[in-house]
Amino acid sequence: MLKTYVTGFPRIGEKRELKFALEAYWAGKSDLNALKEVAKELRARHFSYQKAHGIDVISCNDFSYYDLMLDTITLLGAIPERFVGIEDATTRYFAMARGDESRSAMEMTKWFNTNYHYIVPELHAQTRFSVDTSKIIEEFNEAKALGITPKINLIGPITFLALSKTIDNTDAFVLFDALLEAYASVLKSIELLGEGIIVQFDEPLFAKSLEPKFYTLLKIAYEKLGRVSPNLNIAVVSYFDKANEAVEVLGKCPIWGIGLDFVYGEENLEALLHVNDKVLIAGLIDGRNVWKNNTSKSYALLEKITSVIGEERLILSTSCSLLHVPYSTTFEQKLPLHVKEKLSFALEKLAELQTLQTLWASKEKPTQNVALEKPTIQAHTNHFAKRSPYGIRALIQEKALNLPLFPTTTIGSFPQTKETRTLRLAYKKGEMTQESYENALKELIKECVAFQEKIGLDVLVHGEFERNDMVEYFGELLEGFAFSENGWVQSYGSRCVKPPLLHGNVKRRKPLSVEWSVYAQSLTDKPMKGMLTGPVTILNWSFVRNDIPKSEVAYEVASAIAEEVDELQRHDIKIIQVDEAAFKEGYPLRNEKIKAYEKWAVESFKASVCSAWDQTQIHTHMCYSNFNDIIETIEAMDADVITIETSRSGNKLLKVFQKAHYKAQIGPGVYDIHSPRVPSVEEMSEQIKAFLEVLPKEQLWINPDCGLKTRGWSETKAALANMIQAVKRFR
Ligand code: GLN
Ligand code: ZN
Repeated sequence: MLKTYVTGFPRIGEKRELKFALEAYWAGKSDLNALKEVAKELRARHFSYQKAHGIDVISCNDFSYYDLMLDTITLLGAIPERFVGIEDATTRYFAMARGDESRSAMEMTKWFNTNYHYIVPELHAQTRFSVDTSKIIEEFNEAKALGITPKINLIGPITFLALSKTIDNTDAFVLFDALLEAYASVLKSIELLGEGIIVQFDEPLFAKSLEPKFYTLLKIAYEKLGRVSPNLNIAVVSYFDKANEAVEVLGKCPIWGIGLDFVYGEENLEALLHVNDKVLIAGLIDGRNVWKNNTSKSYALLEKITSVIGEERLILSTSCSLLHVPYSTTFEQKLPLHVKEKLSFALEKLAELQTLQTLWASKEKPTQNVALEKPTIQAHTNHFAKRSPYGIRALIQEKALNLPLFPTTTIGSFPQTKETRTLRLAYKKGEMTQESYENALKELIKECVAFQEKIGLDVLVHGEFERNDMVEYFGELLEGFAFSENGWVQSYGSRCVKPPLLHGNVKRRKPLSVEWSVYAQSLTDKPMKGMLTGPVTILNWSFVRNDIPKSEVAYEVASAIAEEVDELQRHDIKIIQVDEAAFKEGYPLRNEKIKAYEKWAVESFKASVCSAWDQTQIHTHMCYSNFNDIIETIEAMDADVITIETSRSGNKLLKVFQKAHYKAQIGPGVYDIHSPRVPSVEEMSEQIKAFLEVLPKEQLWINPDCGLKTRGWSETKAALANMIQAVKRFR
């Protein structure tokens, strides 16, 4: 029988036990022992789950109190100076993750193209490593006590350095040799734990398009690490895309195994010959989406793989760590059966590995696929009249809107106070009638509009008080989405998200936002901006069905939004913003796949606003702040106004637009909404002045960097008032 292997297991707990234990500990409501108890219990439970499902290779050191990159920083002793003075290891660990009264937290950023965030190592030329393997040994022994000899998961040295930042402008790779020494001593310490232990080095970096130097480094690293101990079995795994070039290198290194993702990198098939004499850990069960495995597809892949790789050298695995999926569908009591039937979370994926194993052993080709919903009927948007080119639209809109120079606006949301959240929750729980809920929302909108009028904003918003989340809100109203009760996935630290399940054909059965926008417009003579979320962002923040191409799903979502745009304009909403906050996040790791992504992303965005009349002004918003590589794509989206995050980069970002001769209007953020600090009139004037050095005044809008929902009212009022004062100086 082929062996089964799990790259990594989620750790937050099926009832988010770790989250609650952490938060209680941080709040001083429980002590460290209580936290450790919970953690230990979770680890034991997760080992046992995998054992019970007959998994042959189970990981340890995939647990973390916060993040595995942070654990690696601790393992290597690469503690940034400002934390070194903290004696107590636990206090120091959480201070690095979250900051304390006198120290800022370490930076956090997205783990490749997932929605998981890791802590970014802070290195400099003088960083000295000193290894502490106590966490690894503890987890290893816990598994042992349960009768499991676990593999040990480590983040590989090259991925670690490539994801690090340096605080002295040196190249992190000046530390390469020292880091390899440190990893070698980690292996020396692991060697003492027993014979033949598998050590898994995660090197997802190699799923990206890389410069040749990285492959040289890869060779150096695993030539060295592979030779540290003949008693260890070193596996190097890469995931999220193909890693063909790395296979060519690794196949010649003195290591035991190579792990590849055949779900998101089927092209790995082309690299099989280069696996040479290594064991192939074949990632066949999707580790980052939630749909049942397509057994015939896996079987067919296995046939191809075994035509090159002997079965004695083959192991069945998940495509990546199961960290990116929820625990189990058994907790779902409310999902419609036809959706629940299609789902496979972490525990179900363990069973799928087993199924594949027995199926292959029986040499019985699966006849029937898991029943998936019929493919979509192509959505129709072509009955809408074509929009004129930007130049023509701009003239028509200028007349229709009659806005002053430097029009001022906000990005959409206004502070979401505790009362607002309580209100939504009460309604959701049925503790409130629809009528009283709607009246309460209208009160909030009324106050918000009155405030915006009072301080003199030009284009107003309703404030988004009815929205808990910019994707969930629309998902709940559209057909084709479902929401799990317990489908939590760790986003960072103790934070989890519950992505919508985009399982079926998407349809708009009723208006999504019209009521609120129309009500808000009725309160003012100023233009009220309609607020929608774009198709690309909706897809990037959901679990999307995988039985049809993503581009088709995106187009369906786009059609639904286009209908909403049309209905808004028919109700006299003259400006409509379609947010694409997650546009950049969806970019593929491989350069050669970018074109295809950009094509469907741009096309679906355009489809989502194709219903707009020439006089309807279409805005979009992106939080991302490095447009260098994507400026042509932004142009192709053909929005009338784009608002972007710039406040922390002065006018640098705008130069990209200038260089590209970008024609449409731009609202670069004049202040950072991530902090409660209120920037002065002076400061914002400086910022506007800097913008004007780059772009003509006719092209500029003035607004904050992003939505204000995480801010309090007092700082919001003060900051926006200052923003308006600053603009007046320039008019
Ligand atoms: N309109 C949204 C808001 O203001 C945009 C949020 C975002 O860009 N992340 O909250
Ligand atoms: Zn934003």
